[in-house]
Amino acid sequence: MNRRVRTKGEQKMKKIAVLGSTGSIGTQTLEVAAANPEKLRVVALAAGRNLELLEQQIRAFHPQAAAVWDEEDAAKLRTAVADLDVKVYSGMEGLIEISTLPEAEILVTAIVGMIGIRPTIAAIQAGKDIALANKETLVTAGHLIMPLAKEHGVKILPVDSEHSAIFQSLNGENPKQIAKILLTASGGPFRGKKRAELAHVRVEDALKHPNWSMGAKITIDSASLVNKGLEVMEAKWLFGVELDQIQVVVQPTSVIHSMVEYVDGAVIAQLGTPDMKLPIQYALFYPERSYLAGARLDFAKLGQISFEEPDMETFRGLPLAMQAARIGGSMPTVFNAANERAVSKFLKGNIRFLDIYEIIADCMNAHKKIENPSVEEILETESAVYERIESRW
Ligand code: NDP
Repeated sequence: MNRRVRTKGEQKMKKIAVLGSTGSIGTQTLEVAAANPEKLRVVALAAGRNLELLEQQIRAFHPQAAAVWDEEDAAKLRTAVADLDVKVYSGMEGLIEISTLPEAEILVTAIVGMIGIRPTIAAIQAGKDIALANKETLVTAGHLIMPLAKEHGVKILPVDSEHSAIFQSLNGENPKQIAKILLTASGGPFRGKKRAELAHVRVEDALKHPNWSMGAKITIDSASLVNKGLEVMEAKWLFGVELDQIQVVVQPTSVIHSMVEYVDGAVIAQLGTPDMKLPIQYALFYPERSYLAGARLDFAKLGQISFEEPDMETFRGLPLAMQAARIGGSMPTVFNAANERAVSKFLKGNIRFLDIYEIIADCMNAHKKIENPSVEEILETESAVYERIESRW
């Protein structure tokens, strides 16, 4: 057989599947794939409703399978790409088909919401490594996902920039020697404002993140500090630390993406310009690194890096998340679902910014915790929260 021998340092071609390929993380994942045609091959893509972009992606990357949520949309897409050799699926079955495609080695979960839980579980059971962006999966089902990944010997590789920074800062270290994780936060567009000033903020203001360009939902979550709360829960599961070992530090320019303090007092941090392609490609190429074009940090120009404590009184998203995480069981699901629905209402202009906190607190107060919820119980809890919100707001 005429086999090409790989030279030292050259990586083998990795086959990837992407859930949520038309979103912010999904499109950046495909940019990474396009920049590394020798190292990455896209074999499957799934999206929600953006048929036009998905079709363009199918034409550019030639995956063997694709999925959209709605069967009618799937039928339209089948017609549109009839000239190509691609199978088109729909619904949850479609997402699972994409997640378990035998050819794929790694699944990028760049879909938004708890809809990511079942496909992630299916992918783990099929032995795929997971490049995890969909934080809702770990927040609500971390107690199921982490043991399952261990059982199947698959890696959960963080895509979230903070978690990637922690992961990079843990490289070669003994996780038992972590003293604490220092999770950095930009503070979002409303940093420094007080409660009264937030009463009438507009959707456009909340969507202006100072450093990162992201999807709408996560941008609002950054403004409310709910995102940082979700990240605390995500970190707890990913790195197996206690909640008390996670400290949120505001670092307004997002130069430090997060840090780990060890038992001897040493602090290891990962720094860089804010570009999600770095954590995305770190997850895809781990343990290797690959060249990434773009701006580099210039420390002389940077001058200084400043820090603050988070304002837990104004930005109740963080203390509410800590409370949900401490209670555990199904409470993080309530926190997440209530926030998801509240943010959707805020984005439509139906509620005010501060109502997001009121809705989350109300749903948490009304909930009776289920210890170690199954996937069904998680999804039932989500529906019950949605019903409560719809009947009251
Ligand atoms: P976007 O809203 O930009 O993208 C969401 C993606 O999910 C889109 O491709 C959308 O498809 C797809 N999708 C939504 N519903 C369905 C469905 N029912 N079936 C199939 N696909 C669906 O989100 P982001 O990229 O910002 O975020 C994705 C995840 O990554 C979230 O969990 C977020 O918290 C996390 N994350 C994001 C970061 C970022 O920088 N953006 C940073 C760290 C984590 P379509 O558009 O076609 O409807």
